[in-house]
Amino acid sequence: MKILLVEDERKVANLIKKGFEEEGLMVDIAEDGEIALEKVSADGYDLIILDIMLPGKDGIEVLKEIRARGIMKPIMMLTAKDSTTDKVLGLDAGADDYITKPFVFEELLARVRALLRRGHAIEKAQPIQIHDLIIDPVTRKVTRAGKEIELTTKEYGLLEYMARNKNRILTRTMIAENVWDYQFDSLTNIIDVYINYLRKKIDKDHQKKLIHTVRGVGYMIKE
Ligand code: CA
Repeated sequence: MKILLVEDERKVANLIKKGFEEEGLMVDIAEDGEIALEKVSADGYDLIILDIMLPGKDGIEVLKEIRARGIMKPIMMLTAKDSTTDKVLGLDAGADDYITKPFVFEELLARVRALLRRGHAIEKAQPIQIHDLIIDPVTRKVTRAGKEIELTTKEYGLLEYMARNKNRILTRTMIAENVWDYQFDSLTNIIDVYINYLRKKIDKDHQKKLIHTVRGVGYMIKE
C-alpha cells in the first residue's frame, strides 16, 4: 500500500511518514500542490492524505483537480482546528474523510486503514476485462465477445483468480492454495483438468487464446 502525503510542514510530514512506515505502509511526501499533482499522475497511490493549508494551491484546489482528472482514490483531508467551512468544502469537493489538526496519530492511522479497506472493497467489485472477456465479480457473470458463459463455482473461482493476476505466471501450487484452499500433490492433476474445462468454455470458439500454458511452471491468463 502506497500513500501520498501532501503536507508542507516538514516536521509533521516526517512524523506521519515514520509512523505509517512502522505500520508497513509506504509514504511519499509532496510539499505543495503542484508537486502533489505531478506525483498523483505519475504514480499509482492507494490513498492520498491532503493538508488544506499549503503554499500556492490550497488543499481544496488540489482535491478538486485530482477528482477532475478522474482519479477516484480515497482522499483524507487534514483540516485546521475548528474550521467547519474547510470540512464542508473538502467533503463537497470529493474528500472521503477528514481529521482535524492537531490529531492523535493512532486515530489518523485507524481512519486511513478504514479508507484503504473500503477502497480495496470497491476495487474488488469492479468488473475485470481481458481483451473481450469480462468478469463481473458481483454477479459472477462471465461474457466473452458479449456472449454469456456458464461456469461452475470452481471454474469461476479459478478464472477470477487467474484474471485478477493477469499477465502473471501462476504455479500449480499458487493455484491450489488460492482456489482450492489447500495443497497436496495429487491436486495438480485436478488443476490441469479444470484449466481444460476453462479452455473449452473461454477459448475454444475464439481465435485469440487467453489462457496460456507456461511449460514446466504453470499457467497464465493474458491478452
Ligand atoms: Ca500545512
